[in-house]
Amino acid sequence: MENCLFCKIIAGDIPSNKVYETEDVLAFRDIAPQAPVHILVIPKAHIASVGEINAENAAAAAKCLEAVAVIAKQEGLDSGFRVISNCGEDAGQTVHHLHFHILAGTKLSEKMV
Ligand code: AMP
Ligand code: ZN
Repeated sequence: MENCLFCKIIAGDIPSNKVYETEDVLAFRDIAPQAPVHILVIPKAHIASVGEINAENAAAAAKCLEAVAVIAKQEGLDSGFRVISNCGEDAGQTVHHLHFHILAGTKLSEKMV
């Protein structure tokens, strides 16, 4: 997808700090971490957001969540972690390529979900 930041990261045109990669999924550290551990998990296929998941692309989204579980073990997040996906303007989505934030490494706020 032209002009998509995360598609450019997948293509290797923009560098990233990779933590996990499969044929269908890429995970890398967020450039502006909001917790001691802040990882983004994305499908290699361009899906704009959770709001665009459908019968055709649901497998790619599911593989991201499968990857979350593997990454949590790999990163030793035994005391817990939070998974967030912002969808649309009100949620503050800034990159319009589906991504799941993994936040961990500290006691996370109880105020938001
Ligand atoms: P969201 O606001 O939910 O769309 O999340 C987008 C996330 O992408 C933010 O947490 C940004 O810090 C992160 N981000 C933006 N550019 C990069 C980049 N080049 N490498 C890693 N993370 C990035
Ligand atoms: Zn994209």
